[in-house]
Amino acid sequence: MSSLKGKTVIITGASSGIGEETARLLASQGAHIVIGARRIERLESLASEIRTGGGSVTYQRLDVTELRQMQDIIQLAQNHFGQVDAIVNNAGVMPLSPLEALKIDEWNRMIDVNIRGVLHGIAAGLPVMKKQGFGQFVNIASIGAYEVSPTAAVYSATKYAVRAITDGLRQETAGQNIRVTLISPGVTESELPDSITHKETIDFMKEYRSIALPAAAIARSIAYAMEQPAEVDVNEMVIRPLV
Ligand code: NDP
Repeated sequence: MSSLKGKTVIITGASSGIGEETARLLASQGAHIVIGARRIERLESLASEIRTGGGSVTYQRLDVTELRQMQDIIQLAQNHFGQVDAIVNNAGVMPLSPLEALKIDEWNRMIDVNIRGVLHGIAAGLPVMKKQGFGQFVNIASIGAYEVSPTAAVYSATKYAVRAITDGLRQETAGQNIRVTLISPGVTESELPDSITHKETIDFMKEYRSIALPAAAIARSIAYAMEQPAEVDVNEMVIRPLV
C-alpha cells in the first residue's frame, strides 16, 4: 500500500501541466487531493475524472497572489479531510523576454505569482502545520533556479528566490517535524510557454522545448519526496531530460 494513502495534499496551479499530473498521480495512490487554480472549469473536469477513477478530491478557485484565497483553500482542506499533510506550491508563469523589451507588467506578474504565490502558500500553511505538529512543503522551482539564460533573467530571479526561500524555510523549521522539498524541473511538457508574448522568444522556445519531459515525470518526483518515511526529508531534486 502506498504511504500516500489517506494523506491530504493541496496542489496550487493544478489546472494544467505538472500540477494536473501530480493531482492524478497522488489521487491514484490514495491521497486526498485539494486542487486550486483560476480556471475553475479545468479543475471541475479533473476532479470529475479523479472521482470516476475512485479518487478523493475537492477543488476551489485559487489565485495565489491573494493570501486570503490561499488561506481559504487550506481551510477547505481541513474542513473536508481534517488535516493538511502537504502543500505543493506549484503555480507559476513564464512570460520570457529580453530585459530590453521592457515588459514590466510581465516581470511583475512573474514576481507576484512565482514568488509572492509561494510565500502565500507558506504564510497560510505554516501556522497550520506547526499547530498539527507535522507537514511538508513541496515548492516547484526550475533549472532556472541554478542558471540564467537570455530572456529568462526575471523568471530565473523568481526561481532563485523560490530556492532561497525554500532553503530558509527548511532551516527555520528544523526540529518541528515539517519537511521541506524543492523540485526543480528542466523543460517539461505543459502550457507554461503559452504566456510568452515576445515573438522571437516564442519561435526559439518551439525548438528548445522539443526535448520536453512529460509532466508525469515531475509528478513522480513529487510523489517520491512525499512517500519517504517520515524521518526522511528530501530537500532538493533537479530533473532534466536526458540529452
Ligand atoms: P502550466 O502553465 O501548464 O501550469 C501552470 C499552472 O499555474 C496552471 O495550472 C495555472 O492555472 C496556474 N497559475 C498561474 N497563475 C496562477 C495564479 N495567479 N493563481 C493560481 N494558479 C495560477 O505550466 P507547468 O505545469 O509547467 O508549471 C508548473 C510549475 O512548474 C511552475 O511553477 C513552473 O515555473 C514550473 N516549471 C515548469 C517547467 C516546464 O518546462 N514546464 C520547467 C521548470 C519549472 P490557471 O491559469 O488556471 O490559474
